[in-house]
Amino acid sequence: MSPYPYDVDVREAPGYRGAAEALGFGLGGTTQLWGGQLWPWVPSELGPRPWLGLAGWDYDFADLQRDYGRLADILELSRPQRALVSGGATASTHSGLGYELRESTWLSWRQRNLGKTLGRELVNAKAVSVLTGHQVRSLHVENGAVTRLVGPGCEDVAAEHYFLAAGTLGNVALLHEAGSAAGGAVGTGFMDHLSVRTAELEVVDWDAYREHEAPRYDGSSLFTKRYAAQRELQESLRLPGVLAQWETELPAHSPLLQARELLRGRQRGDKRPKGLGSLIPGLTSELRGVIGARLRRRRYVPEEARIYLSVNVEQLPTEGKRLSVDGRTVRMKWLAEEADLNAAEVFTEAFLDAYDLERSGLRVKRVLEDPVVNDTYHLMGGARLSSDPAAGVVTPELRHHQIRNLSVVGASVFPTGGLANPTFTAGAMSLAAVDSFIGGFA
Ligand SMILES: Cc1cc2nc3c(=O)[nH]c(=O)nc-3n(C[C@H](O)[C@H](O)[C@H](O)COP(=O)(O)OP(=O)(O)OC[C@H]3O[C@@H](n4cnc5c(N)ncnc54)[C@H](O)[C@@H]3O)c2cc1C
Repeated sequence: MSPYPYDVDVREAPGYRGAAEALGFGLGGTTQLWGGQLWPWVPSELGPRPWLGLAGWDYDFADLQRDYGRLADILELSRPQRALVSGGATASTHSGLGYELRESTWLSWRQRNLGKTLGRELVNAKAVSVLTGHQVRSLHVENGAVTRLVGPGCEDVAAEHYFLAAGTLGNVALLHEAGSAAGGAVGTGFMDHLSVRTAELEVVDWDAYREHEAPRYDGSSLFTKRYAAQRELQESLRLPGVLAQWETELPAHSPLLQARELLRGRQRGDKRPKGLGSLIPGLTSELRGVIGARLRRRRYVPEEARIYLSVNVEQLPTEGKRLSVDGRTVRMKWLAEEADLNAAEVFTEAFLDAYDLERSGLRVKRVLEDPVVNDTYHLMGGARLSSDPAAGVVTPELRHHQIRNLSVVGASVFPTGGLANPTFTAGAMSLAAVDSFIGGFA
């Protein structure tokens, strides 16, 4: 039996991986599977973009920044990570070239499953009950308020206020069930980011590549470089948010790749990872490289790795994509649109033209005629925030416009998706939403 109270129909979402693979059940949800890559946004990711007909969010960036700091405390981020998320580690601008270097950081493997990292605290919190492991089939709404939850094991739960945190698909399914109060806005504006692999690079100088491009360590915290198109370039080329990054692909037999799979198993909760013993000889032979890289404060990239340029594209909340609900089925309409692919192509050209590849020991081997296009498992939109009830499902405080004791949290409330990874931003906004209402979890 499916652990989800809904099915997803992807017949109109060809190739969409996020519907089937981005679902983690219970406390921790999809963080049982995610990469833990944290990408603090900058003001332009929320701002108006007239060249795309986008008004910008009804949300104050200064508030978001403050809550990034609070979330950093909760996640016990290291000092260099805090500097990054508080905007203190300034991005370096490649002046005149149209892009800027910004870094993302990563939660360690041990921290990634937030059900484990924060679960005990949440379960013990006095002011909130976290309902997990039970399927809520619907929210019973009477006179503009949720009066009870419908579903096995949920009947006894009664609260003054409800926070819906069921992921984008789960939120849309339940909000639709809650009645037609929210009009046609539920499900519109569904989007993801695209990862578009556009070129293969040859490494002509591994030392230079490792020095300038490999992910770097500061203490035990890992940072990855990303080259984000600046607002002026976006405007002049009429682009959505785009960034370029290096993708390293290890061969299937690589012990490093297999070790990562084992760690992923641990993240999901496997107590005894299988196959560790058989990996040890291979890992031992990689040890010199790993230690050498670590001494230079870099993540090890072996010479058998293939290096690609991958462009991350912000999908826009267009009419061509949406979620709708039919009984217990969420119907997903999604595609990589012409404009998305064009954005990847145009930015690849601009970036490869401007970037000093030689300094980084790189040379373009081939620009891919057929770029490899994937969603990034970042399901966003469908319950978007707006101060205008006709344009959104929730207020900027994330309270439902029509159902007075219901708030919605998660990336489903995003009106647009920023350049990349949504979860740190969604988490910070969730904190603010809970605080504005009950003064915290404690
Ligand atoms: C492979 C992978 C890699 C990723 N990497 C990154 C990354 O590096 N950085 C990043 O920012 N994001 C990443 N993401 C996306 C990130 O995981 C999600 O944005 C985030 O976990 C969403 O959190 P959420 O709490 O809103 O929803 P979810 O994590 O989806 O949690 C929702 C929970 O609600 C439960 N639920 C749903 N409906 C009901 C119901 N009716 N009754 C009871 N329970 C219900 C679900 O079972 C689930 O447990 C990745 C995702 C995947 C799959």
